[in-house]
Amino acid sequence: MFINLVNNIAFLIALVAVGQLVISRFQRNTPGRQLMLGVLFGCVTLLGMVNPVNFAPGLIFDGRSIVLSLAGLVGGGVVGAIAAGMAAAYRYQLGGIGAPVGALVILQSALLGVLARQWFMRRGALPGAMHYLLLGVLVQLAQLGAFALIPNRAGHPFIEQAWWVLLFFYPLAFMFLCLSFQHHAQQRVDRLALQNAQKALTAEEHASMQRFHAYFDHSIVGLAITSLEKGWLEVNDALCNTLGYSRAELTHMTWTELTYPDDLAPDMAQFNRMLAGEIDSYAMDKRFVHKDGHPVHTRLAVSNVRKADGSVDYVVAMVEDISEQKISSLALERREKQLRFVLAGSALGFWDWDIVTGTVDRNEQWAEMLGYTPEEIKHTTRQWTDFIHPDDRERAWSSVNAVLEGGSAIHRLEYRMLHKDGSVRWILDQASVMQRDQDGKPMRMCGTHTDITERKQDELELRRHRHHLQELVAAQTRDLVIAKDAAEAANRAKSAFLANMSHELRTPMNGVMGMIELARRRMVDPRGIDQLGKAKHAAERLLRVLNDILDLSKIEADRMMLEETPLQLRDSVDGVAGTLGHVAAGKDLELHIDLPEDVAGAALKGDSLRLGQILLNLVGNAIKFTERGGVTLRVRAVGETREALQVRFEVSDTGLGIDAEAKGRLFQSFEQADNSMTRRYGGTGLGLAICKSLVRLMGGEIGVDSVPGEGSMFWFVVPLKKREPGMLLQEMPCPGLLVEARLRSQYAGSRILLVEDEPITQEIARSLLENVNLSVDIAENGQQALDKARCNAYALILMDMQMPVMNGIDAAGAIRSDSLNRTTPILAMTANAFDEDRQHCLDGGMNDHIAKPVDPGKLYETLLQWLVAGGEKANA
Ligand code: ADP
Repeated sequence: MFINLVNNIAFLIALVAVGQLVISRFQRNTPGRQLMLGVLFGCVTLLGMVNPVNFAPGLIFDGRSIVLSLAGLVGGGVVGAIAAGMAAAYRYQLGGIGAPVGALVILQSALLGVLARQWFMRRGALPGAMHYLLLGVLVQLAQLGAFALIPNRAGHPFIEQAWWVLLFFYPLAFMFLCLSFQHHAQQRVDRLALQNAQKALTAEEHASMQRFHAYFDHSIVGLAITSLEKGWLEVNDALCNTLGYSRAELTHMTWTELTYPDDLAPDMAQFNRMLAGEIDSYAMDKRFVHKDGHPVHTRLAVSNVRKADGSVDYVVAMVEDISEQKISSLALERREKQLRFVLAGSALGFWDWDIVTGTVDRNEQWAEMLGYTPEEIKHTTRQWTDFIHPDDRERAWSSVNAVLEGGSAIHRLEYRMLHKDGSVRWILDQASVMQRDQDGKPMRMCGTHTDITERKQDELELRRHRHHLQELVAAQTRDLVIAKDAAEAANRAKSAFLANMSHELRTPMNGVMGMIELARRRMVDPRGIDQLGKAKHAAERLLRVLNDILDLSKIEADRMMLEETPLQLRDSVDGVAGTLGHVAAGKDLELHIDLPEDVAGAALKGDSLRLGQILLNLVGNAIKFTERGGVTLRVRAVGETREALQVRFEVSDTGLGIDAEAKGRLFQSFEQADNSMTRRYGGTGLGLAICKSLVRLMGGEIGVDSVPGEGSMFWFVVPLKKREPGMLLQEMPCPGLLVEARLRSQYAGSRILLVEDEPITQEIARSLLENVNLSVDIAENGQQALDKARCNAYALILMDMQMPVMNGIDAAGAIRSDSLNRTTPILAMTANAFDEDRQHCLDGGMNDHIAKPVDPGKLYETLLQWLVAGGEKANA
């Protein structure tokens, strides 16, 4: 029995070997493998059953339970079913009483193996030796149970004899078989994993190689693999482009051949260190030489690749072309150098404030300006604040802040900073924000410092000077004001004196001339008439001198005013001829007038009285200083504008002439060509000076051309304004005798109020008025005049100005406002003979002004004019 058992065990071992072979052959659990395994397990079972332990006739015992449960466990359901089918079929064929139980044992063993397999797989963990042992025991218990089912208890003796074999040895054998299969399966799994890992590794290596080549070949950076002997083994296109060689050319060269000579030594030094194992890699900027000869700036990174034994195998180099960067950085460097040079030359302090980091970069001049070395300057804004004069800090910061906040574009401020030596320096600080972020927040601000201390000192000095000058000017102005006040006071005094003098001289002259006139009118004795005529002539001369002196005084006091009334040159020239014609004739001189018709009749305006005065003076002189020949008055228009006619007057004579030396002096006051003249011809030397002043006042020029012994030609040119069409010329008065006749015939008995306080003047005036049959009422002052005017209506009132009680102006005003004579002509008759006096009278409501000394002819003319006017108004 034991021998058969050993046989069975031997089959089992063979089973393990063959089973494992099958399992190894078929890597995957294919139906073929299942079939093979099923048949194998079936055959092994059959072999065991061929040589069983024959326990009793028809009762056999073998190792089928172990093989079939193993088949179910190792091969699964299909394998178990095939093996069990084969075994069951064979057992039936053997027959005997044990055939059904034998088939039952076959089926239950295979089934238990399959179920255990399912359970282990569901559990997930590998079963251990104990699991297999327990499974073996369970299979054998099932077998023992089956044996008990054999009819007639035929199986019982077997159970009693073999139970210990079944329950001890069979499970152990089953366990070892299981472990062996498990071990084999594990080995197979490990081998497969190893194979897979190796495959994966090879694939990865391949992919990695491909990636490397893709990178190597298409990299935009130059790459090379070089030998330890510095030859280029492999190069990529980028490197070829950088150096200008083809791959074929480069791989036959060494990198030392193509290195720029100056850069070879440092590169070799590093390379050798790497070969010596001191370093594994190095990087540097170096130059290669391009195929066409120009240097190529590159950034080189070199590293070695070691063999397994640690020695260097080959070298990998990365060559980046940085020519463009280099060129732009060189240009930048050059620009920065230039800028620094300019800043150094211009002595400008420069500052660059990185607002984000808070650091400030400043140049040497910035520090030197304040007496510091650059090393003493900290890169902070704090130090700037500290250097500013305490009084200027707030001002400086608020200017900077205004720019930072965008309130103003430029920070431009002059303020004081403290020098290291304690002195104060004036700085002009100019800056602006150079960079802002997307939100407009300032990031960088740059500016310059200019030392303007000297300029400031100059300004201060200038201000001091200006101040001093202003004080001086103020002092001088004060003096001038005092002097001006004094001059004005003197001028006022002079004017007052002039007016008084005029009044005081004219009043007695009026008496003298009036009385002479009255006496002459009554005189019948021819000698008396002649004497009175001479007295009158002398008085007239005296009056002319008096008028000249007063004129000159007025001119000098700047009080000479010119009138602007209608003017006709024919009248002016006729007036001269009328006045001086008989004088020329008296000296047997011809007075020739040369006045073209168009000029004579031109409608002009100006001061005809003063024009006449100039002409009378010049023609008078010409007659005076000419003994033979004649005098010519020539008038020409020499220019014309829209507003005025430029008229030239020439008075030439055939007299004694004037020498060149005297010509310069003649137009000055009191100057005569020769002092002996005074004795011979008389004269004051004032005439030409007055002429010159009047011509100047008219805006013209005066001069003289003369040849001594042959004669002189005095000339003057004045602009005379053109008259507007509506401006009427005053009618020429009637000749004197006619006037008197008209007064007597037409106005005899007309009541005239004569207002005069001075008795002599009163007498003269009354006589002259009564002489033409006018009826005269006398008032001795303004008040009396007003009283009379309130009671009587007068044809005309003659009014003195200066009177006691009430003066002429006040009286005229009162008469105009409250009397019977509101419209009666009132004529001032006064020794106040200046133009402003005349204007004063007209402004005071009077109609006209007769200057004393009174010229009877002039008085009658004026009386007639106003009596006519008054009569017309009364009739109207
Ligand atoms: P007066 O004639 O009163 O002396 P003027 O000023 O009119 O003053 O003249 C000044 C001087 O000019 C005269 O004294 C005379 O010497 C000189 N003079 C003026 N006109 C002539 C002239 N036509 N011929 C020569 N000398 C003249």
